[in-house]
Amino acid sequence: MTLHVIDTGFFKLDGGAMFGVVPKTIWQRSNPADDNNLCTWAMRCLLIEDGNRLILIDNGIGDKQDAKFFSHYYLHGDASLQSSLKKAGFAPEDVTDMFLTHLHFDHCGGGVKYKNGDRALELAFPNATYWSNTDHWKWATEPNAREKASFLKENILPIQESGHLKFFVPGQTSPIPQFTDVLYMNGHTDKMMLPVLNYKGHKLVYMADLLPSVGHIPLPYVMGYDTRPLLTLDEKSAFLNKAADENYILFFEHDAVNECCTVQHTDKGVRLKETFRLSEL
Ligand SMILES: [Zn+2]
Repeated sequence: MTLHVIDTGFFKLDGGAMFGVVPKTIWQRSNPADDNNLCTWAMRCLLIEDGNRLILIDNGIGDKQDAKFFSHYYLHGDASLQSSLKKAGFAPEDVTDMFLTHLHFDHCGGGVKYKNGDRALELAFPNATYWSNTDHWKWATEPNAREKASFLKENILPIQESGHLKFFVPGQTSPIPQFTDVLYMNGHTDKMMLPVLNYKGHKLVYMADLLPSVGHIPLPYVMGYDTRPLLTLDEKSAFLNKAADENYILFFEHDAVNECCTVQHTDKGVRLKETFRLSEL
């Protein structure tokens, strides 16, 4: 199994929204904000090459919305979904499985694109099965008022219309055998999925929005976006204890600097052990 980091660029989000009840005087030490109180975040996807499968986990923000929408997010950086795939030696047609941790726009926007010279939409990975789960799909397609602005129809509905949509079922064997497990989390949104892989003798977990960055490891650092913050606290606590016990590798989607880390038990609770690039494993 070969893993490729697929950088799709950086964006900015309000620092206060990203750290919830934690005051800026504290979070700005690890995540400096700009004049507009915005901090920089990565949209880092993971590509798994194994046998006849080529599995992509999340696909960034895409480019379908208008200038006004993107003006809120300050997209920057040299990498794009297309350029990173190409750098890894692949074309969009090669992807067999497009795994979506959840359907917020910064995780799934790259999965649907405009047809060349046309306003019609089509799948960006035409040969891939797109994976979600029934509960999250319902949650995203019948959104609550709070998350409505994050579930964009143009990112979601064409997947179903294409006939390429399939669902993971909690408790059943993973239809992607490269995932030894999938962790279901309900604090950030309903039934977000975190895939778990065995890689070079380690258990590696794709963190999505359970832990956006190294700065979110202490328990109270819960995003203001989360729909059930008390549940996120419990989910983080259980996950981090296990991650420290079993020396998991945490792979970060949103940390602008750190790709991976391990964690350890300390007197203050579970804390960062080491950070490293995936290529250093
Ligand atoms: Zn999210």
